[in-house]
Amino acid sequence: MNKLTVRDLAPEQLRGKRALVRVDFNVPLDAERHVTDDTRIRAAIPTLELLLDRGARVVLLSHLGRPKGKPESKYSLQPVAKRLAELLPSSKVAFVESTDSDEARAHASTEGVAKHLTPAVAGLLMEKEINYLHNALENPKRPFVAVLGGSKISGKIDVIEALLPKVDALLVGGAMACTFYKAMGLETGKSLVEADRVALAKSLLDKAGTRLILPHDATVAPSIEQAGAAHPVSKDAIPSDEAMLDIGPGTAESYARAIASAKTVLWNGPMGVFETPPLDRGTNAIARAMADATAKGATTIVGGGDSAAAVEQAGLAERMSHVSTGGGASLEFLEGKTLPGLAALTDR
Ligand code: ADP
Ligand code: MG
Repeated sequence: MNKLTVRDLAPEQLRGKRALVRVDFNVPLDAERHVTDDTRIRAAIPTLELLLDRGARVVLLSHLGRPKGKPESKYSLQPVAKRLAELLPSSKVAFVESTDSDEARAHASTEGVAKHLTPAVAGLLMEKEINYLHNALENPKRPFVAVLGGSKISGKIDVIEALLPKVDALLVGGAMACTFYKAMGLETGKSLVEADRVALAKSLLDKAGTRLILPHDATVAPSIEQAGAAHPVSKDAIPSDEAMLDIGPGTAESYARAIASAKTVLWNGPMGVFETPPLDRGTNAIARAMADATAKGATTIVGGGDSAAAVEQAGLAERMSHVSTGGGASLEFLEGKTLPGLAALTDR
């Protein structure tokens, strides 16, 4: 990475100094305001321990939820501080109720804060994230296979366009496959199709050539509520009164084979409505194939909140090379956009 990271800060630079760390502790809470998933807190611990070991006094900045302009107790980070104290038993964790509205804190964003600091460095989590994504884009071991799914094609068009010239194959699943089907003139029944993106899907198909691969079969059902009635059909036999809710079993198998022969796999977006079994089969097949590929030495990267949740749900998160926590920012990185919070860091 061409930016300084916390590793570059020597103990003599840090001892007794305050280190301001922008963390993403926007975690889910239950009705009693207990942290229900501390993944994001745990993910920051290596960076915090490095700073503490080198003698820094660490000040953390995060947001929780979206309070509207003034403090709201339900968005207080107090429960997060409590969980952090449990995770850092040898450190004293103090929670600061409010910050003075002085200028330095007025821009407590990833970018604004970084502009006021010298040096401004990446934490270990950001370093790992950037290294994995950057290597996949610029220097992938081949074959390089991308798997894209999820509910909407609209949010991922820029990613498709950016990845197509770089990958050996781009496997499409999720509801976005249906917009491509529509563009091919196929019957899509009650499937989620973005009518205003059909023309765009058609032009993508025209210029993508054989690298863009669509499911050749589909798992359909009358509705998500009737998932029990799900059955496979060929892509040209989707009934007019049913919806495609997962890739079909044949497609799951051929995608798994493509993943098995890949050296780099990048996955964003579930293959179907994985929240409702048996519509999780396509998604689970991808997760399993990627876990097996990792074991055989491939680099496997999972991005996107729902995809990460699906991999977690399948119990396979530990078997991926990297599960991205960067959310929307990671997608923008894949699109080749400049990330302000990254650009603001001190260059090497
Ligand atoms: P990520 O968060 O990993 O980027 P998205 O947010 O783009 O993924 O998409 C996830 C959602 O897409 C899930 O809630 C899933 O139910 C939905 N989805 C996937 N395939 C279909 C489909 N064929 N029809 C309707 N919804 C789908
Ligand atoms: Mg999502």
